[in-house]
Amino acid sequence: MNNDFLISIIEMDCPICDKVHKLEKRKRIAQSIVKDEVVNYEEIYFLCPNCDEEENEFVPAGLMDENLLRARDAYRQEKGLLTSKEIVDIRNYYNLTQVDFSALLGWGDVTITRYETKTIQDETYDNIMRLVLKNPMFALECINKHKDRFSLEKYERIRKSIINKVEAVGNLYLKIQEINSLYVNYYEENDINGYKLLSIEKVANVMGYYAQFIENLYKVKLMKLLWYTDSVFFRRCGKSMTGLVYRHMPLGALPIGHDEIISLPTVKVVDEMIRDDICYRIQPDKEVNISEFSLEELSVLQLVATTFKYYNTKEIIDYMHMEKAYRETVPNQIIPYSLASQLNALK
Ligand SMILES: [Zn+2]
Repeated sequence: MNNDFLISIIEMDCPICDKVHKLEKRKRIAQSIVKDEVVNYEEIYFLCPNCDEEENEFVPAGLMDENLLRARDAYRQEKGLLTSKEIVDIRNYYNLTQVDFSALLGWGDVTITRYETKTIQDETYDNIMRLVLKNPMFALECINKHKDRFSLEKYERIRKSIINKVEAVGNLYLKIQEINSLYVNYYEENDINGYKLLSIEKVANVMGYYAQFIENLYKVKLMKLLWYTDSVFFRRCGKSMTGLVYRHMPLGALPIGHDEIISLPTVKVVDEMIRDDICYRIQPDKEVNISEFSLEELSVLQLVATTFKYYNTKEIIDYMHMEKAYRETVPNQIIPYSLASQLNALK
């Protein structure tokens, strides 16, 4: 495989032949040693096309630092650590300078600057930075604890910016914790979760997809659509799409955490009275980016959506009641995916 690409041609002073002429700026996969380990990374370099000798390439000093950073980031990615760019993103999320972010965490003034430019953070520090991003309440705790590191004006400004995030996503963080806590026992890939660990993000995207494309969608129907989605995907790929675990309930298959997942931000729930009953109508909220689905996933989503588009709640329940997965399980029992894959229709 060719791993060496031309990025651009630039006229500049060539240090190899000591003349101004056109040079090739190129990119290739190179290897570097980071913390005693070999990593592959994208190296950028210049090539002098006028020179036939072996020494026909060079890396200017500025670019050398960039290459080093890319090598370290490749190492970080391999180890599941935040990359320098991701650390910058967390900081920007709360409008913090490098020094502010360090102060907020109670670290030395230059710690964050080092992480963004050269040093690789250890796992403990990495976890703390991730938590600040995921849980704005934690960020708020941090700033209160290290209040004395800021001027009063700055403290107020940063605090306000964190509070905005608490209001925007704090609730979501708690919701996700709640869902995760319901799934603590399903930490292994097996027949119960369709050989996939729960992906809350995927659940949110799948729900958002149906909310976007199906009118008159109610909660009960959405829950059946989730089950069909996972089951068809399992039959095709040997894995469920979301990792949800479903129980046999009177109205058909119902995922564990069904009340919690409908609070995810891709959908909104509107209470409606229909013949003296409260129904939960599902509407799209945050737009779902279709490109986040693989082609295989999209094909299943489309199949399920077109098959059940015009089914009302009762019709889809009746349909589900005919499934082997329903007939061969008892109330409250978890429906194993091996049964779910033997569907009536939806080939
Ligand atoms: Zn040259």
